[in-house]
Amino acid sequence: MSSQPSHPSLLIPGPIEISDEVSQAMGHYAQSHVGQPFVNTFGETLTQLRQLFQTSNPKSQPFVLAGSGTLGWDLVAANLVEPGEDVLVLHTGYFADSFADCLSIYGAKPTQLKAPIGDRPQLPEIEAALKEKKYKALTVTHVDTSTGVLSQIQALSDLIRRVSPDTLLVVDGVCSVGGEEIHFDNMAIDVCLTASQKAIGCPPGLSITMVSEKAMDVFKSRKSPPGSYYASFKNWLPIMQNYEANKPSYFATPPTQLVQALNTSLKSILSNPISDRFAQHKKVSDYVKSKVKELGLKELASDPANAAHTMTAIYLPEGLTPPEILPKLMSRGVIFAGGLHKEIAAKYIRFGHMGVSITDESRGEVDKALNALKEGLAEVQQAKGQ
Ligand SMILES: *Cc1c(COP(=O)(O)O)cnc(C)c1O
Repeated sequence: MSSQPSHPSLLIPGPIEISDEVSQAMGHYAQSHVGQPFVNTFGETLTQLRQLFQTSNPKSQPFVLAGSGTLGWDLVAANLVEPGEDVLVLHTGYFADSFADCLSIYGAKPTQLKAPIGDRPQLPEIEAALKEKKYKALTVTHVDTSTGVLSQIQALSDLIRRVSPDTLLVVDGVCSVGGEEIHFDNMAIDVCLTASQKAIGCPPGLSITMVSEKAMDVFKSRKSPPGSYYASFKNWLPIMQNYEANKPSYFATPPTQLVQALNTSLKSILSNPISDRFAQHKKVSDYVKSKVKELGLKELASDPANAAHTMTAIYLPEGLTPPEILPKLMSRGVIFAGGLHKEIAAKYIRFGHMGVSITDESRGEVDKALNALKEGLAEVQQAKGQ
């Protein structure tokens, strides 16, 4: 039995349900951010992140900062790109537009390569773009939370190494890290940015980023100073290095309870082989998608090969809108999200299936959600005489 008050199941693409252990860690008693007990916890957490991202290069650098996933974009834009430099932004939905906006604010020049809704840019067009201009970085949204489209990181990495090896590979993994397969070293990723509240299973409030040795070298050879104060690697690098060496140090106060929660969540995630966790997310995702199909509904992702395993974006039957169906789910104890992609937001809903709702099958939340969807749709259609 859960020790949390009874509540509807939060099955949106983040924030997600948290385990009782994580919830209890959020209630940790007050600790000094420079006292040895907390310093040790923070240090251990940074080391756990190396395992989560699957990097064994001691020069890969984890950063954990108070902030949401969005702060990861600022880190990239302020530290790794200099004003006037070009960045190729692969667009699979809402989040690429925002990342491009963020890059522009810092003076970078983003070029977006857009795919039709539900699809992703194709390798030949990406290759052509990379050959056209020198791009400082290429950004890709691993799981686009607005469309449920999954991008291929390994194939992109191989392409970059072949045609533009100096270009940094930047992965927005906010809706993927902890649920989709990521191997930071093997995939030669330069930056993978994420947040605490999606597949990692913590409350919102932490920006979590892994930066490669190559990207840290690019940072160190900048000609201009970092374009931000709070989001500066220069300010945070010594702090992260000190924490990981169990030495107290201060630039700005970390959210101590959230770090306890992250440490607790990562302990649980890493207590089993990480490949089992990815396989479990895939298994449940395949099941959800087969049930969605049985209901006669279509996914936004046009092809199973480009569909995420942490969420499903589902078109509603013609004429139905999210404000009609979402309350029917809520009355059955299930919270889904409405549409986010602005061109089609009124036509679809989003089901986030990641973290403890997936790994702990005894919670029964996936079937509860699928039943609520089936019954809720029937109720709305009957009321409308369809
Ligand atoms: C949620 C999300 C973000 C933004 O994260 P916040 O924590 O809301 O700032 C960025 N990118 C992707 C892919 C996301 O899913």
